[in-house]
Amino acid sequence: MSGIDTLPPLRDVIATHGLSARKSLGQNFLLDLNLTAKIARVAGDLSDADVLEVGPGPGGLTRGLLAEGARKVLAIEKDTRCLPALAEIAAAYPEQLEVINADALEIDPTKHLSAPIKIVANLPYNVGTELLVRWLTPPAWPPFWQSLTLMFQREVAERIVAPPGSKAYGRLAVLAQWRAEAKIALTLPPEAFTPPPKVSSAVVHLTALPQPRFQAEPKVLEHVVAKAFNQRRKMLRAALKGLAPDIEDRLIAAGIKPTDRAETVGLEQFCALARTMDHPPST
Ligand code: SAM
Repeated sequence: MSGIDTLPPLRDVIATHGLSARKSLGQNFLLDLNLTAKIARVAGDLSDADVLEVGPGPGGLTRGLLAEGARKVLAIEKDTRCLPALAEIAAAYPEQLEVINADALEIDPTKHLSAPIKIVANLPYNVGTELLVRWLTPPAWPPFWQSLTLMFQREVAERIVAPPGSKAYGRLAVLAQWRAEAKIALTLPPEAFTPPPKVSSAVVHLTALPQPRFQAEPKVLEHVVAKAFNQRRKMLRAALKGLAPDIEDRLIAAGIKPTDRAETVGLEQFCALARTMDHPPST
């Protein structure tokens, strides 16, 4: 199935249910159903997937996902004011929409979903990065999700897809690109939202790789990368001093110049460095 549904226009839904946007909840709504269907399509064929949506709000993207044929949508919304509007959508798509009134940071959605699972969300800016980092650092790989299609402030989206050597390259790029394919699928001006935020936004599409691009112990890699970028202007021999007394030898063993800065180090080298951390350097 494809196409826009027969529910009332979102502006009417917002007026009927008194859903004035709250800044504290990161509420910038998408009211154009052609646009929400376009975002849903970035996630690919949804007919054989369960979709997790965080922060459905009045339900614009939820409606896009369902109209594009999602097998099931599990929508987790913190704001109780949105529940009546979401109940109307659930009634229009019997058995296909489950709404949970909760803080997405507090609940485990996996019990409510069957594989394959795609996550699609216009994330609240205040918890977006935290959720992304959680999804990128699960206890085991491959993760419970097959793909992530997520709206972020454009600057955050650029950090996710940034190549080494660029200003935006950092911890988020390494975490995202080590075990996923990441690209910016769409960029949106502030006027696409109600109310318009101060900055542009972008939809990032990440597909989980079956295994990491380069071997490394996840916790060790995360720790090394966090330390390296914590003091990104410092040379790595100084930024990583606390990690091991012979850090210079380990950097050299990993093919990294101790005088390099984190932003010039690629994924492969970071993984090689992480691998030296559980044994003596091999030079
Ligand atoms: N998906 C809707 C759209 O595209 O129009 C709304 C997007 S709005 C940027 C973010 C939504 O996330 C809001 O509805 C807000 O109430 C909800 N939200 C904020 N913090 C949340 C949290 N911790 N858990 C679940 N939902 C949250």
